[in-house]
Amino acid sequence: MNKIKMSTPLVEMDGDEMTRILWQMIKDELLLPFIELNTEYYDLGLERRNETDDQVTVDSAEATKKYGVAVKCATITPNAARMTEYNLKEMWKSPNGTIRAMLDGTVFRAPIVVKGIEPCVKNWKKPITIARHAYGDVYKGVEMKIPGAGKCELVYTAEDGSEMRELIHNFAGAGIVQGQHNVDESIESFARSCFTYALDTRQDLWFATKDTISKKYDHTFKDIFQDIFDREFEEKFKEAGITYFYTLIDDAVARVMKAEGGFIWACKNYDGDVMSDMVSSAFGSLAMMTSVLVSPHGYYEYEAAHGTVQRHYYKHLKGEETSTNSVATIFAWTGALRKRGELDENEALMAFADKLEKACVQTIESGKMTKDLALITTIQNPTVLNSGEFIREIRKSLEEML
Ligand code: NAP
Ligand code: MG
Repeated sequence: MNKIKMSTPLVEMDGDEMTRILWQMIKDELLLPFIELNTEYYDLGLERRNETDDQVTVDSAEATKKYGVAVKCATITPNAARMTEYNLKEMWKSPNGTIRAMLDGTVFRAPIVVKGIEPCVKNWKKPITIARHAYGDVYKGVEMKIPGAGKCELVYTAEDGSEMRELIHNFAGAGIVQGQHNVDESIESFARSCFTYALDTRQDLWFATKDTISKKYDHTFKDIFQDIFDREFEEKFKEAGITYFYTLIDDAVARVMKAEGGFIWACKNYDGDVMSDMVSSAFGSLAMMTSVLVSPHGYYEYEAAHGTVQRHYYKHLKGEETSTNSVATIFAWTGALRKRGELDENEALMAFADKLEKACVQTIESGKMTKDLALITTIQNPTVLNSGEFIREIRKSLEEML
């Protein structure tokens, strides 16, 4: 069989612990036998980040800007325990945070839907993708405890010294106050990433805020979305046969519960934090959740939504058997390969990505799965496989299709 060729490299960001082990297995079993894999490799494993003073993370993000598409393995975000474990020079920042800041992107999280792993919400038949705005609001909030009676105001001082003031509250006794902000530029980037990704995946886009109560703050989000939609995306949406739909956040929540899925739900920062945990747990498993960072400039970085599965890694190091689910990491690869294929008009690469995804789904639907899924499946008497066996079963299904 002729291996599939790639004209442009994919940016490959390797990672840590159990997912680093899976990463190599996926390449060896599912990619290298079929593709002349053309990647520009960056090792974002914590040891390498520490050696390079985290320069490798910055370099990998720069490479993503150059080539447009990256695939990333889960990485450790250092904390105090990791400082000792890896003897770190510094508590390096989360690579995801660094990359997102450099690409100015929005993260879209979508579940992989298979028969036998049923969502808690019975009518959810298709994935619901959550897009969370990753800047500002309560996450950049400034707070005060008000000790007693007194006046609290919002004050804006322009560069020319002129002022705007708004009374927050005349406190009669003790209380609390909070200042939140956002910036138009960030909201615009968020909106463009959402519209771009909706077009890319041909799914409707929903957006919701509480603009009836927050007539300036939330209303600005609504207006920016509508304005960008009208000027840049309305025609393209019509051509693609998809819609943009704005509603109030409480109405959106009610509709989501009754919907069958198959759309993107754009959320403000806090709503996205809360709703993505709700949606992902209702869909069944963190190990079946993919994540893609989409920048308003059209750069894409694909990864699994879960972490490095540390507990399994320590079992692996002790020589014990692990049953770690590689599906979300495989889908990170297929997402990136398909996008690379689209950009390079490489039909063979796109078809390969589709088939590899189908092979994963078929393997699970035929009752062969890792332990995390076996615990929640509705399939009778599933076969529980270890990490390596599961990947080799997927390879068998894939080879039958090719
Ligand atoms: P985690 O790696 O997502 O794992 C938490 C638990 O979820 C696991 O112990 C396992 O449960 C289950 N799980 C997650 N993925 C699984 C899979 N593919 N197959 C089977 N079970 C799976 O989260 P964590 O343990 O909180 O974090 C570990 C490290 O990952 C941390 O250093 C954190 O900084 C990092 N992290 C990275 C990213 C990223 O790079 N995007 C995201 C989140 C966390 P059982 O142990 O019960 O089997
Ligand atoms: Mg959360």
